[in-house]
Amino acid sequence: MKLFVLNSGSSSLKYTLFDISDGIREIVSGLVERIGEQESTATLLHKAGKESVTAQIADHHGAQELVLRQLRGHGYLKAFSDLAGCAHRVVHGGTKFSEPILIDQQVLEVIEALIPLAPLHNPANLEGIRTLMNLSPNTPQIALFDTAFHHQMPEVACRYPLPEEIFTRLNIRRYGFHGLSHHYLRDEAAKLLGKRPEQCNLITLHLGNGASAAAIRAGKSIDTSMGFTPLEGLVMGTRPGDLDAGILLYLMEEKGMSAEIVDQLLNHESGLKGLCDTNDMREILAQKARGDRQAELAFEMFCYRIKKYIGAYIAILGGVDAVVFAGGIGEHSATVREAVCSGLEHLGLVLDRTKNRRFSHGAKMVHHPDSRVAIVVAQTNEAMQMARESAEILKELKMMNT
Ligand code: ADP
Repeated sequence: MKLFVLNSGSSSLKYTLFDISDGIREIVSGLVERIGEQESTATLLHKAGKESVTAQIADHHGAQELVLRQLRGHGYLKAFSDLAGCAHRVVHGGTKFSEPILIDQQVLEVIEALIPLAPLHNPANLEGIRTLMNLSPNTPQIALFDTAFHHQMPEVACRYPLPEEIFTRLNIRRYGFHGLSHHYLRDEAAKLLGKRPEQCNLITLHLGNGASAAAIRAGKSIDTSMGFTPLEGLVMGTRPGDLDAGILLYLMEEKGMSAEIVDQLLNHESGLKGLCDTNDMREILAQKARGDRQAELAFEMFCYRIKKYIGAYIAILGGVDAVVFAGGIGEHSATVREAVCSGLEHLGLVLDRTKNRRFSHGAKMVHHPDSRVAIVVAQTNEAMQMARESAEILKELKMMNT
């Protein structure tokens, strides 16, 4: 039984092919970049290395046909109709979807109706789904939502203190994102702690270009730093995170900026990039080491905001078993982890600097024996999380059909 896990973006496609016959095993993964441009690249990431082909690919249909040729060429998959299922990552599930769901016409309509809440992502996710539905009409298609893990946040965390009807009529509330990653990290941490997920209180930090923190009590997300959109919360690559909404009113009313310009400012020109001209943490660390003051400030503001969230989340959780670092920055930057944890000893977090520096891959604990709270570094794996959840659905489906 093979499962195809997809993350379809507006000009890119990432996928992983899994064997789910007996347990869940990754067979191969790949990506297609610059779909719709003059030169697109399709890269197959074998265990032993990568292989790229360049072609002009107009849309997701063309991308999938090329992917299939590559997979077939190496004997990984003969036809899409051989798949037991396709799992699609969908960024926004709104208030409707709290779990992965088998896609039918009604589900497509709901995802479509949510486009205004995720104008950059849901249309591309839908295109990926529709492409596979056309290419392989009899294969079960499953949608997995980035918002689902946070779906049961209590009202005290998911409401904004705005008039009631803004919530009830307009659905303006905190949804939270990166749910597949936080869910995966919860299970990795629980494994390391030797507990069941529902026995753990955790703070998970997904620190990539987009960054978010989640407070997990007894296995459930009770708060997260991203809100109505992925703009809220931590300082990110090009987004500012928490911001006084009055700034937007001032820029628009007093300085005459259009909504389009403010959108560009907040989504693409702020955060680390706004502070020091680059959103690449490796570059920031190198510049900081050379004494660049702006890079140093960007680094400090990034770590300071994370530290504030850790403090807040320890307070609302009333105690925490582990703090988990992941995402490109959380996983790879010992310097960031060190800066975030320093000064948190009084809250029970004591990092072991040597273990922290030595972390290379997988999931490991890097705290000192004196630490009351475990400090975990983990490689997140959203595709694996999607495969696990989808395999459950496909098993149920198989049982119903036999
Ligand atoms: P995305 O959110 O786009 O998936 P990633 O999770 O890949 O992003 O994270 C990208 C970030 O990780 C970038 O800021 C990059 O500089 C940073 N990063 C990757 N490797 C390292 C490293 N070795 N040290 C510090 N930062 C790193």
